Amino acid sequence: MASASSCASSKKSESKGWSGANWEYDGEEIFCYCGVKCPMWTTWKNTENIGRRFFSCPNYRTKKCGFFRWIDEPMSERARFVIYELKKKNEELKKSKKTNEDGEMEEIKLKMIEMQRQVSMAIETVDLHRREKHRVLKWMILAWMICFWMIVKSYV
Ligand SMILES: [Zn+2]
Repeated sequence: MASASSCASSKKSESKGWSGANWEYDGEEIFCYCGVKCPMWTTWKNTENIGRRFFSCPNYRTKKCGFFRWIDEPMSERARFVIYELKKKNEELKKSKKTNEDGEMEEIKLKMIEMQRQVSMAIETVDLHRREKHRVLKWMILAWMICFWMIVKSYV
């Protein structure tokens, strides 16, 4: 029921520095002040809270519920550094994967344009042959008509 909205909100909130609205978690279910089950989030903003999970009201955009609760204790400086470095690497990988995909798409597009060109050329060739055939047929009919007319005339 809430999965559709959670999906949309988790996508949007990624740019805000937290992501992964997770509705399945161990332990007791947490409900906010509006009585809604809270998803678990992870903050990825490069602050002292990076990597920490928290519960918050899923309707924080529309309702002034204000429910918020940390799950993890504050991390050590070393842990924060490692998380930040991993996050950066992950983003770089995502970016390079996207660049590769874009390159592949460009190649496929070029191939498709080439194929379309070849197909239209083939169609034109077929069309030319057909027109040629029509012309020959027309001349043949005309020749037969002349012959017929000459035969008829020779009898008259
Ligand atoms: Zn709430």
